[in-house]
Amino acid sequence: KSSLTKTKKNIVERVESILLGRSIDESVIDDIEEVLITSDVGTEATNEIITLLREKIKVGEIKNSEDVRSYLKTEMALLLGKPQPLIPFGEKPFVILAVGVNGVGKTTTIGKLASRFISEGNSVILAAADTFRAAAIEQLEIWAKRSGADIIKHQSGSDPAAVAFDAVEAAKARGVDIVIIDTAGRLHTKSQLMDELKKINRVIKKSIPDAPQEILLIVDATTGQNALRQAQIFNEAIGITGIALTKLDGTAKGGIIFAIKKELGIPVRLIGVGEGVDDLKDFDPEDFVAALFD
Ligand code: GDP
Repeated sequence: KSSLTKTKKNIVERVESILLGRSIDESVIDDIEEVLITSDVGTEATNEIITLLREKIKVGEIKNSEDVRSYLKTEMALLLGKPQPLIPFGEKPFVILAVGVNGVGKTTTIGKLASRFISEGNSVILAAADTFRAAAIEQLEIWAKRSGADIIKHQSGSDPAAVAFDAVEAAKARGVDIVIIDTAGRLHTKSQLMDELKKINRVIKKSIPDAPQEILLIVDATTGQNALRQAQIFNEAIGITGIALTKLDGTAKGGIIFAIKKELGIPVRLIGVGEGVDDLKDFDPEDFVAALFD
């Protein structure tokens, strides 16, 4: 809860100070609109919230500050929709292809996820398919040890698609429940990176036609609108099925979660709220909004 303190300050507490001692008129609506826009909620979500607010004021459904506040809480929760957690389904192995640019917390998120799945009684293989950086393989090994997952790795510089393929084949042979594939976050060019991810995706399907069942994009909440742009780019290139939004602790830009939902419609499945192994939570819209408003 406390991990959202800065976002709460940036959105809800600013709205509260606008409402303080003012009657509900057009200038109040404008000021609220400005808060939403400048707190990364995004133009589409903001327009939806403000348009309905204006209508409700007009017909007398919203009369005072308290009405505005409770309207915002309800409307923002509605906007985020129902929880859509990452739950493995179907025949095993359940394959998660983890993608995202460097530094967003991809390796950490993979490690936290592996640790969670293992504590729930699943077996997990991590695939070190970011062969571009030797340090990435080492970092993933540390998380494999820490979580008790197996790791499939090749030499640094080898073909990432081959690593992914081997990991999925190994999982099939060993009856492993879950495979999480780490991928590069940066190559020489953006199109090279996307081509590599497409190839990994294709090669996985040669082993299991329905896999990867999840293409999970990891984005960093502290980057605000950049997180949204990254999600657009990755989604256009390879099709994202879910998002993990990291570093929500300590950022005022948590409003970006509304923009992601409204503008992309891709479910935010997980949120990162710290560096520790337990600091990855299922994203629950109701809890999220409650943490902002209560
Ligand atoms: P990668 O380059 O995307 O693999 O990023 P890393 O997993 O190496 O993470 C980069 C940094 O972000 C590390 O210092 C992590 O501990 C930190 N980090 C990752 N997730 C979170 C989070 O949810 N909250 C905080 N505060 N830090 C995080």
